Amino acid sequence: MFCKKCGKEIRDDAIVCPYCGVQVGNFSTPAPKTNVLAIVGFIFAFLMPVVGLICSIIGKSKVDECGGNGKGLATAGIVISIIAIVLYVIIVAASVGMAASVMNGVY
Ligand SMILES: [Zn+2]
Repeated sequence: MFCKKCGKEIRDDAIVCPYCGVQVGNFSTPAPKTNVLAIVGFIFAFLMPVVGLICSIIGKSKVDECGGNGKGLATAGIVISIIAIVLYVIIVAASVGMAASVMNGVY
């Protein structure tokens, strides 16, 4: 690449121009990555709540341990997974109860 200030050709990975000393590189630190497990856990919370719950718990502990984004996402994944599991249990219990009623001729 070429220096913005003096126009001399410099190395592509140079941070400071060796000819005039102007800053040419990008000093901004890369944004912290969102924990993958937190994302996976959040998605699975809707599809397979048990898997989502496990991934979210692991993801949350990883964020606590290693840093990065995704703590809120992991917490949301845990909450949604628990709600989904409770709903599934209610639906399954209701279905079983209804099936039992049909078989007993009550329904
Ligand atoms: Zn320069």
